Amino acid sequence: MATLEIDRVRKSYGHLEVLKEVSISIEAGDFLVLLGPSGCGKSTLLSLIAGLEEITEGEIRIGGQGVNDLMPKDRDIAMVFQSYALYPTMTVRENIEFGMKIRKIAKADREKATQAAVELLQIDHLLDRKPSQLSGGQRQRVAMGRALVRNPKLFLFDEPLSNLDAKLRVDMRTEIKRLHQRLGTTIVYVTHDQIEAMTLATRVAVMKDGIVQQLDEPQIVYERPANVYVAKFVGSPA
Ligand code: ADP
Ligand code: MG
Repeated sequence: MATLEIDRVRKSYGHLEVLKEVSISIEAGDFLVLLGPSGCGKSTLLSLIAGLEEITEGEIRIGGQGVNDLMPKDRDIAMVFQSYALYPTMTVRENIEFGMKIRKIAKADREKATQAAVELLQIDHLLDRKPSQLSGGQRQRVAMGRALVRNPKLFLFDEPLSNLDAKLRVDMRTEIKRLHQRLGTTIVYVTHDQIEAMTLATRVAVMKDGIVQQLDEPQIVYERPANVYVAKFVGSPA
């Protein structure tokens, strides 16, 4: 049984059909990248996986259970967005520990989880700072730290690097890849950047207008694109 099963999913907003019939199955440890231009439905699909939006037709199952049948606390998903959405008045430590506090995790366990995450992300020297005292890349690391301490079964990333400058994007790409290798977690990662997709993914789903055009390992997508659209989008040699 796949960890995450997206089964003939359709999503409409009023008359606008955003996802047409999307089926993807994701195994534990996969790093699936949803790649496609702005407006093709990537964020919508992530929101459906996270249970934040209602599915119009079809089903999404996590560990065999429909996302909408699971209580939010049982969904075991952590999301990292493009805008880091840190609490401005809290320190880095407070930002990272906030979710655990809400879930009434004991102080010693919170501290232990935080320490492991900040060491992994190399932000242990920033624990007492406020978000305003951090660079963009550092803030994004804190946002990832906050997701990491939840130790979720599934990570969802929505264009987490698109607000960073080019050099940082490359550094963070390496970081995320390392995290995935170290932790072996399952990741669904949205981007419109083909290089990001090609370097990070174990599998890539290339999307256009709410339809998955091709779903394959990055090298296969690049070398054997399913159609002209995919070839152009990933920059395959002619
Ligand atoms: P992407 O993340 O690939 O850029 P989105 O999933 O954000 O694409 O959006 C896909 C389409 O759905 C766009 O046309 C967008 O305007 C539309 N859309 C997204 N969210 C909503 C919403 N809450 N209400 C109406 N239309 C929406
Ligand atoms: Mg989006």
